[in-house]
Amino acid sequence: MLQRCILDKRIPQALLLTGREGAGTIALALAMARTVNCHHPQTTSTTMEPCEACPSCIQSASLQHTNIKLVMALPAGKADSEEDVADDVVEALREVLQAVAEDPYTRVRLPNASMIRIGQIREVKRMLSLSAAQEGRRVVIIVNAEEMNVEASNAFLKTLEEPHDDVTIILTTSRPERLLQTIVSRCQELIVPPLSDETVIDTLVSRGLCSAEEASLVAPFAEGDIQRASDYVSEDVRGMRTSALALLRSALRGKDYRNALADAAAEIGDERSKTKAEATLSLLAVWLRDAYALALGGPDVRLVNADDRSALEKFAAAFGSADLPAVMTVIERASRDIHRNTSISLTLLTAMMDIRGIIARTRATS
Ligand SMILES: [Zn+2]
Repeated sequence: MLQRCILDKRIPQALLLTGREGAGTIALALAMARTVNCHHPQTTSTTMEPCEACPSCIQSASLQHTNIKLVMALPAGKADSEEDVADDVVEALREVLQAVAEDPYTRVRLPNASMIRIGQIREVKRMLSLSAAQEGRRVVIIVNAEEMNVEASNAFLKTLEEPHDDVTIILTTSRPERLLQTIVSRCQELIVPPLSDETVIDTLVSRGLCSAEEASLVAPFAEGDIQRASDYVSEDVRGMRTSALALLRSALRGKDYRNALADAAAEIGDERSKTKAEATLSLLAVWLRDAYALALGGPDVRLVNADDRSALEKFAAAFGSADLPAVMTVIERASRDIHRNTSISLTLLTAMMDIRGIIARTRATS
């Protein structure tokens, strides 16, 4: 769809790219910014690609193009905009931009970043009010736009309402529900689908991150997300799944479950790695999805955790009638909370108590 718009020179003024960063939302935004600024784009009847050789392409390849601006959350602190941040943040910002230039599927995040603030949106506004320093189309990319705080969102809405010539504002988000509805309705939305398992495997292997065999073990858990897949490669996936299931088992024990559950949650929490805790929850969700599929579809369904079939069958027989979609919602919420820096062990504990409650309810009514 984007290709069509670019070819027809009907480039939207505001575009919302919904999907995971690791599925390529930012990669797509940058590719579009490069293409519309290229002096000699390579065109076929259905595609348009940047030439990679003109001065504009060379500048945009290193993200030093004056027409291309990335806006991302800044670390907590006094600084309200990129102009008055501390030197270490300036340096971190430079490093992030360099990493993105090298790998547009990479995580675009400053250490301890908390939110996109109003000062940053004002800077965008000021930039857009000036005339462009060079020809082409100015493209502002708001990375993880849901991180705009309330003041920033309101200021941004005003910016969207003002007409600009030769400007496209691209928002990327994996959580569109967290954006102001008034912002969403002013954007043309494009859903960036998860990558296929094959693409994930090829990418991991071509980057030399692991062997093809390891890649095919990891890919089904990665949900089409290169970042997640790369995280898993550097972790012990089976080990994480074991601790995820230990957590689940302890939550479903008889009356002495509290201590066991607290221990299991603390064990995951003690590692102090947000990424690992999120990955563990995601493995639990995928495992439960398998159990649910077995309960509904019977023995012929294709399982992600095919190597753990007998445990899955036991679980499906015992708890298959439980409200597993509700359980999955609890897991998703916990994962979001951990992402937002709540206490890992406390969040896990609360979530598992909720899950215990959901499953107990089913037993009581069946
Ligand atoms: Zn070019």
